[in-house]
Amino acid sequence: MPYVYDDQNIFAKILRGEIPNDTVLETEHCLAFKDINPQAPVHILVIPKGPYVCFAHFAAEASDAELVDFNRTIGKVCRMAGVAEDGYRTISNAGVNGLQEVPHLHMHILGGQVLGPLLART
Ligand code: 5GP
Repeated sequence: MPYVYDDQNIFAKILRGEIPNDTVLETEHCLAFKDINPQAPVHILVIPKGPYVCFAHFAAEASDAELVDFNRTIGKVCRMAGVAEDGYRTISNAGVNGLQEVPHLHMHILGGQVLGPLLART
């Protein structure tokens, strides 16, 4: 089944400059910005500029340049935010079971404290 991208999602609006954001880093293919509702002292989102719904979509259809830039940007943001040494967690929620709220691929970078167990079932 093809991936269908909704260009009215909030991150698409951020990329078009229609909604402000607190940018941490911008590259040719990516934007990193602070999460509006941080779940840890460091909570940054890294998104590709291209219209990808989720990680599986991105991995299947992005160019090599986009794939490389996304990965390098995540690592660079971890170092810039000062969490590379003490540790951090990257999470990319996808779809209904992943409780993805915004249907534009984003990698959460969380750190600045001990983050607890990976999954909390409620
Ligand atoms: P998801 O549940 O889709 O993995 O995570 C979406 C994330 O986007 C949430 O952590 C939420 O706080 C964040 N978010 C939603 N709307 C905005 C916004 O307008 N600006 C920013 N910076 N973050 C947002």
